Amino acid sequence: MTALVGGRVLPSPQAAAIPDGVVLVEEAIITAVGARGAVHVPAGARVIDCAGGTVTAGFWNSHVHFTGDVFRAANTAPSESLAAALRAMLTSYGVVHVVDTGSDLLNTLALRRRIESGEVPGPLILTAGAGFAPAGGSPFYILPARIPELTRPADAVLVDAELARGGDIVKLFTGSWATPRSIVVMPVDVVRAAVEVGHRRGKLVFAHPSNSPGARAAIEGGVDVLAHTFPASLDGSPWDRALPAMMKERGTALIPTLKLWPYELTRGGLPPDLIELVLGNGVAQTRAFAELGGQLLFGTDVGYMTDYDPTDEFVYLQRAGLAPAQILAMLTTAPAARFGRATGRLAPGLAADIVVLDGDPAQDVRAFAKVRTTMRDGRVLHGRT
Ligand SMILES: [Zn+2]
Repeated sequence: MTALVGGRVLPSPQAAAIPDGVVLVEEAIITAVGARGAVHVPAGARVIDCAGGTVTAGFWNSHVHFTGDVFRAANTAPSESLAAALRAMLTSYGVVHVVDTGSDLLNTLALRRRIESGEVPGPLILTAGAGFAPAGGSPFYILPARIPELTRPADAVLVDAELARGGDIVKLFTGSWATPRSIVVMPVDVVRAAVEVGHRRGKLVFAHPSNSPGARAAIEGGVDVLAHTFPASLDGSPWDRALPAMMKERGTALIPTLKLWPYELTRGGLPPDLIELVLGNGVAQTRAFAELGGQLLFGTDVGYMTDYDPTDEFVYLQRAGLAPAQILAMLTTAPAARFGRATGRLAPGLAADIVVLDGDPAQDVRAFAKVRTTMRDGRVLHGRT
């Protein structure tokens, strides 16, 4: 038995906070959630003092990559080095569920096996495998590696083969940076054929859009999730203002990855005013979609980004007009609903996936990144016990 005692408990984004609450965990399952006076803490329970903190459900990061050197040879790498890397990138920031949107499929499945056996403490992984580019559109920034290309609708058999090897989702580069100065867009009939294959196997399809034409191809092709906003424009034309409503109407979800834009463009040496313009486009797209009631999922592209701290992402989401409860939904209930998983809330009978934050994100959104304790299935993966 473990008792998390004395924190401000947020059972879900919609629920009222319990100011001085208790969450009881027995083995891997939550058994009680309530006010201190209403929940009996059994003698002998391990007590985690949560005073001054906020206790809520474990987080999802729906856009990560296990492509760093430390994850290479995941079947034989020392468990301590894998554990340290997972802690640095994910669990020290409260993340217990991830969606890997591009990596070596068999390597990532090996990493997942070692986590799920209990040998390596880490998050639950869903993975896309390598992903698929349009003809001539393998992304320049992963060179010399190339990813498979879909030229015609019939090439969707390649997508089926990747799912048969164990992929959990499909990832399409519907708009792909083939060179630093050109984006190749996947034809809509090719997107649609790949989406049909994924859906026939009951899998979600993610898209990397890059720009408005790449986003439009994804949305019209029936993709489920845009893995990024699409703030780029090669010719200075404004982004396509019709797209957020199209996404809302068709049920497409959006992962904003706002911190990625200044990260990427600063490394590329772009001037600050241009960086602000691109970030501003991403913020405006997120705001427009949120105002229509579209489904937003939290994701940062860590693994590609070597700066793992999500603080700026939370600040930019707030800049897009999102309230702390909306950001918490992106981290918990929205991805749980999208992936059909019974997680994302604190309630008796659910898995004990729990985060304890320093402070209160309703007062300062940066508190979402200040994680004292991360628990998955009742096991502490990070922090003080
Ligand atoms: Zn990515």
